Amino acid sequence: MTKRNPGTDVFTELGHTPAQLGFSEPAHGTGRTFPAEVSTSEISRQWTQVVTLLRKELGESTYQNWLCLMGCEGIDGGCVQLTAPSRFKRDWISSHLGEALLKAWGAVNGQVLRLDLRAKENAPGPSSSNISTNDAVTVASALPAQMRAENQIDPRNGQYGRLGAPLDPRFTFEDFVVGKSNEFAHAAARRVADSDNPPFNPLFLHGGVGLGKTHLMHAIAHAIRAQHPERTVLYLSAEKFMYQFIKALRDKDTMPFKEALRSVDVLMVDDVQFIGGKGSTQEEFFHTFNALIDHQKQLVISADRSPSDLDGIEERIRSRLGWGLVADIHPTDYELRLGILQGKAEIARRQMPDLQIAEAVLEFLAHRISSNVRDVEGALTRVVAFATLVRRPITVDMAREVLQDLLRASERRITIDEIQRKAAEYFNIRLADMLSARRARAVARPRQVAMYLAKQLTARSLPEIGRKFGGRDHTTVIHAVRRIEQLRESDNALNEDVEKLQRLLQG
Ligand code: ADP
Ligand code: MG
Repeated sequence: MTKRNPGTDVFTELGHTPAQLGFSEPAHGTGRTFPAEVSTSEISRQWTQVVTLLRKELGESTYQNWLCLMGCEGIDGGCVQLTAPSRFKRDWISSHLGEALLKAWGAVNGQVLRLDLRAKENAPGPSSSNISTNDAVTVASALPAQMRAENQIDPRNGQYGRLGAPLDPRFTFEDFVVGKSNEFAHAAARRVADSDNPPFNPLFLHGGVGLGKTHLMHAIAHAIRAQHPERTVLYLSAEKFMYQFIKALRDKDTMPFKEALRSVDVLMVDDVQFIGGKGSTQEEFFHTFNALIDHQKQLVISADRSPSDLDGIEERIRSRLGWGLVADIHPTDYELRLGILQGKAEIARRQMPDLQIAEAVLEFLAHRISSNVRDVEGALTRVVAFATLVRRPITVDMAREVLQDLLRASERRITIDEIQRKAAEYFNIRLADMLSARRARAVARPRQVAMYLAKQLTARSLPEIGRKFGGRDHTTVIHAVRRIEQLRESDNALNEDVEKLQRLLQG
């Protein structure tokens, strides 16, 4: 079925063995690989999905002649690395299938912005991190999947280009939507960007994944570069910091690394929770950190948790990290998510004037996807990509269908406590009465409704529910459930109450 290309080991059936997909940087004897953004099995799964989609769309012969010759090496910062068996094939695929591939990737993984297509014959060694980028053909066009601009290396990285990581041109203050959960972090970031001398040092941003830490750091860098082109701003991830440092150690050439780091005006290190472990890297990080602070250079650090919770990092470093300003970003609320979605939809519409996204779809996404902005954005991108790919209008039903897996993952778990609280509030009785022995109809009925909802909306067993309602017997719960079922048939008002509560709980 699947053709194999003799002489290469790029692909197995349709998927790829994890080893062949390995793309994290080498661990250099630490026995540990650096955390990868997307796991290899996940990449393999996504690639299989992409190929399956395209096989359906483009037909069997395109699949046999081209698609199944390709390999997927990894995903790095929104860029998918694909290989073709030869230069000729690479060029053909790039010009004939590039767009389709990118669209399909967009439908499967909203984070994907562009593709790097390489000829396997030019790829030295088995480790994809060694594949030379010189020979890559990049596919990135104005596509639904790419509601985001291209993530190119900013030439102003200059001599730091190699050391630092590229800035995402979309991550600006202008594109950052401010809400209750992030206003403090945003204000702090703005202060840093607008001040000539460090207003607080370091600025330590922390919060869960996908809440905008990297976006704010890049925004600071963009703003400083725009206002003070002479200042050098270096942004890099903690992983990259470690990788560079370990590499310098191995090459016995740490001086240029140290000097480069210490000569910047602003140093930003993202995701420092990954700096744990290795004593010497921590040590170097700490020295750099101190040297820069001593010289009034601004430091901006981010992590997924507060300095004091950074385990695996030495106590003196942890406490020093908290010396400046610690600003946390909280999970987003509905309003902020909706605001962000409206912004992204607007950008998409600018790129695709025909695109119609109903407000109801945005509201649905803001309601149903988690608090992580990355997921919310990814969901929108996927819906848009799908709509363009299959030429269907974007409706709530369609979004529900396309996002099935995501919706399931973020489906809220409703608890009995929550049901009791909401029902007490709704019927205007005391929460304690949910558990009390009082039999007055005014409290007994709401209690029965709550028991009924606990049975319907949670996976709890009858005895468990009984226990939660003041240690009642499971037969009492059965009775309540039956009673409410009957009443829903005969009592319209009560039926409406139940439905309203159900909607309230299911958010
Ligand atoms: P983190 O670094 O905290 O994991 P990112 O900064 O990478 O999160 O944000 C994830 C995605 O969500 C990015 O595409 C970013 O642009 C977007 N995002 C996060 N917060 C906001 C916001 N307040 N306004 C607009 N986009 C946001
Ligand atoms: Mg980040």
